[in-house]
Amino acid sequence: MTQSASSVWSRQCGAALLVLAIVGCGCATALAELSVNSSFPGGSGKVVRIDQENQKVVLEPSRRPNRGWECWWYVRIDGATAGATLLVDVGDAPWATPERASISVDNKAWRFTKPGSRARSRIAYSIEAPAEQFWLAWGPPFTPADAQRLVDRSSKHADATAFELCKTREMRKVPALHVRKGDEAKRHVVWVQARQHAWEAGSSWVCQGLTDWLISDEERAGLLRDRAEVFIVPIMDIDNSAVGAGGKNQIPRDHNRDWDDKPYWPAVAAAQEKLRELNTEQRLDIFIDLHNPGATARHPYFYIVPRHLLNRRGQRNLNSFLACSREEMSGPLSFVGQTVESGSGYDRNWKRISKNWVSLNSAPHVVSVTLETAWNTPHSDAAGYQQVGRQLGLAVERFLRTDPK
Ligand SMILES: [Zn+2]
Repeated sequence: MTQSASSVWSRQCGAALLVLAIVGCGCATALAELSVNSSFPGGSGKVVRIDQENQKVVLEPSRRPNRGWECWWYVRIDGATAGATLLVDVGDAPWATPERASISVDNKAWRFTKPGSRARSRIAYSIEAPAEQFWLAWGPPFTPADAQRLVDRSSKHADATAFELCKTREMRKVPALHVRKGDEAKRHVVWVQARQHAWEAGSSWVCQGLTDWLISDEERAGLLRDRAEVFIVPIMDIDNSAVGAGGKNQIPRDHNRDWDDKPYWPAVAAAQEKLRELNTEQRLDIFIDLHNPGATARHPYFYIVPRHLLNRRGQRNLNSFLACSREEMSGPLSFVGQTVESGSGYDRNWKRISKNWVSLNSAPHVVSVTLETAWNTPHSDAAGYQQVGRQLGLAVERFLRTDPK
């Protein structure tokens, strides 16, 4: 290269670098602008304010009129600076303010943030941004696509078959799984369903833990498959789970107050029809409805049918199931024996609660319970919830060693 050619080159190069610097600088400014998005399956998050200068986001759950409690939130944050601290402030307590939020860089693997700081009805999480883009949620999300994936991959097992419980009122599929070894109908049937309340995503993780265990190579999972058929519905309220609504106390009816002779929700009607059939065949033994409870619960516990409604066999089976659960559900989210009767003193619509409806409409020996898995503890992450599910499966296996009929 000659002297003059070199200086032309360096002038051109310098100009090009200057242009690059301007473009780069423009990009950097755009990237540093925090933005919040919740327009994706299960997403929820109304932005109250974004303070760019102080890197603070003020959020609330999205407004979803008539679709139940506004407590669930799940957003994607863009424009963060990796490694920099930002503050995400959310309300209202108690339902929308878990001690720790859940954070993910790939929208798949979730971990907890540090505990937030509370001020009146709100909580502020101080977060070190793991990347320019990341996801933040009330708890580890579990969407209808996750339910479909769970059912699809489980149905590759020789003993499991996918089925569609029904279509929802908004014409979405309700994926479900039937686990049965061999072609013969089994003498014992277990029904497990989760997520009648859409915000209770943890209950679907419990359901996934149980399902994965049930079709695993573990010896006791095989023993349970030898003995019983299991029906599994990972999400009952698909519509609200799909749009990130809370669901609890939705209009016109709470999903778990819809269990009467004229259910409004197709998933309730479809479950009732199948449960009636199983009961008529004298095969139903256990019904388990999976939920998450109030913010102060530290351990999983069971809602049980008012004991005075149970005959001696029913009482004996319930006690035996609870004893097996106590033995197997050893934690870290452990069942320490707490139960609550949900009868007329609990709710005037108590007969329309699923596990009560099942008990009132099935043989006296049937064990019908609601498991409430604590969500506001350091162990209430996807791994902790799935461990509860596995241990619940072990409790079922132990209980069915003696014939409840
Ligand atoms: Zn619930």
